[in-house]
Amino acid sequence: METIQEINQLMTGEEYLDSLNDGREIWFDGEIIENVTEHPAFRNAARSMARLYDALHDPELQDDLTTIDKFGHRTHRFFEPAYTVEDLVKSRKAIDIWQRINYGWMGRSPDYKAAFMAQMAEGYDYYAPYGDNALAWYKKFASKGLHMNHVLIDPPVDRAKPRSEVQHIYLSLDKSDDKGIYVSGAKMVATGSALTHATFVGVGAGAASIMKPNQDEDLALVFIAKMNAPGLKMISRPSYELKANSPFDAPLASRFDENDAVMVFENCFIPWEDVLIYRDVEKVRGYQPASGFFNRYNLQAATRLYVKLEFCIGLLMKGTEASGTNQFRGVQAAIGELISMRNVIYGLTSAMVYEPEPGIGDSVVPSLQMAAAARIYGTSAWTHIRHLFETTLGGAPSYTVSGVNDMHALGLSHIIDTYYQGTNLPGRERIKLFNLVWDALYSEFAGRHGLYEQNYAGSKDIQRMNTLQFATVRGEVDAYKGLVDQAMSDYDADGWVNSVWK
Ligand SMILES: Cc1cc2nc3c(=O)[nH]c(=O)nc-3n(C[C@H](O)[C@H](O)[C@H](O)COP(=O)(O)OP(=O)(O)OC[C@H]3O[C@@H](n4cnc5c(N)ncnc54)[C@H](O)[C@@H]3O)c2cc1C
Repeated sequence: METIQEINQLMTGEEYLDSLNDGREIWFDGEIIENVTEHPAFRNAARSMARLYDALHDPELQDDLTTIDKFGHRTHRFFEPAYTVEDLVKSRKAIDIWQRINYGWMGRSPDYKAAFMAQMAEGYDYYAPYGDNALAWYKKFASKGLHMNHVLIDPPVDRAKPRSEVQHIYLSLDKSDDKGIYVSGAKMVATGSALTHATFVGVGAGAASIMKPNQDEDLALVFIAKMNAPGLKMISRPSYELKANSPFDAPLASRFDENDAVMVFENCFIPWEDVLIYRDVEKVRGYQPASGFFNRYNLQAATRLYVKLEFCIGLLMKGTEASGTNQFRGVQAAIGELISMRNVIYGLTSAMVYEPEPGIGDSVVPSLQMAAAARIYGTSAWTHIRHLFETTLGGAPSYTVSGVNDMHALGLSHIIDTYYQGTNLPGRERIKLFNLVWDALYSEFAGRHGLYEQNYAGSKDIQRMNTLQFATVRGEVDAYKGLVDQAMSDYDADGWVNSVWK
């Protein structure tokens, strides 16, 4: 057997930060940002992301986090396709290790888009005549461990019209020449994009399903745009990192605000080598199901979520201990319920990896049924988690002070020490703990997290309708209806048909 020579080009944290200073156009509060990694709206989030890259080089973690792909590149385990159950189990472990570094608070760490990009190692042919582009992007992505975001969704306007009638706003083709294509239009919120290397630009499954051949070709595009592509603008939302006065006041927002940006393309140039689908409605409809992205992104998302839930369980327990309510029956029941929610999500990841199905090429992907279930359960979970905090910690998180400077105010010192103490917890430690609770559940950062958890995987109805569609296509609903038919065939208006009960 031929031995593969290992090539390790994975970025370190420092290399990752340097790579983001590439002249990209990010608009923030009326200005174009000079260097995103030094700007106070993004600086710490960039450093939190950089820690993931450093972990890839940590001798203690390297075996669990990385592997050698079939081309010889050392890469993150989820950045290459899985070929066996064992690969999937190891991928989950690698995702888990990365997520623990940021406690599950950064949804779009680079392993998210790896759910899609890895599959291009096997499925590049799908993109013919641009298949070579897909394979070249896989190699670039896996070898360096690139951080990619994606934009799939049209802006929230004129949704009831045919897409071709909103072409002046939705992303579409302006022209092409021998060098590449030129596109204009906007795409809805690219999470983490300011801190990524490239954006994967596609069409969401819902929009793709209503596209019409011989009408929507100019919107039938899939390509990858480097973040410094000429004509690409990121319009950032407000930054909670910027608003965070101190880590003491906003311990999560001050380091994990991955930001979201509206992506605007204005006559943006995309070289041919970065084009994957060009004016092909049928391919645009099929690329997501063919990739196995759905099965895989739900593994990443559910793994992130159970880690985040472990953090939340710790928070709720410490919060109730601080208030001295942890011995009460209803409080213990709430904590038990939160633990069971974490365990259900963990169990779904186990079902996903231990009951895989064939993917594109030689790959295997997590179970579709379980991925669809995790998507619905995970996205609905957050409102209930918040409810458990609201009803279990009551008003304790609001028994606080106005900011970190109160900690240093001599006039408040004895008040904090006496009246702000928790059960077996000094006043300053209690305030520190509940500031963390506040940032996780009630701050602006937390509000955006709630919105993210509920929407990032598509609207509520679409999630449920997709699950019905999958079950219909796979014959599962026929089997379910068959059970009812069987039960009804036992009797009729004249009595029992089945001799057992005659
Ligand atoms: C914080 C955050 C981060 C995000 N990050 C990303 C990202 O990185 N990349 C990305 O591509 N997207 C991202 N999104 C967008 C996300 O994918 C969408 O919000 C999600 O798919 C839901 O789509 P929508 O917001 O357009 O809502 P809609 O689809 O408009 O749904 C809103 C409501 O309208 C109803 N509705 C809509 N259309 C119809 C119809 N035709 N018939 C009947 N009812 C209808 C829905 O059922 C729902 O109740 C992000 C969103 C958020 C909130």
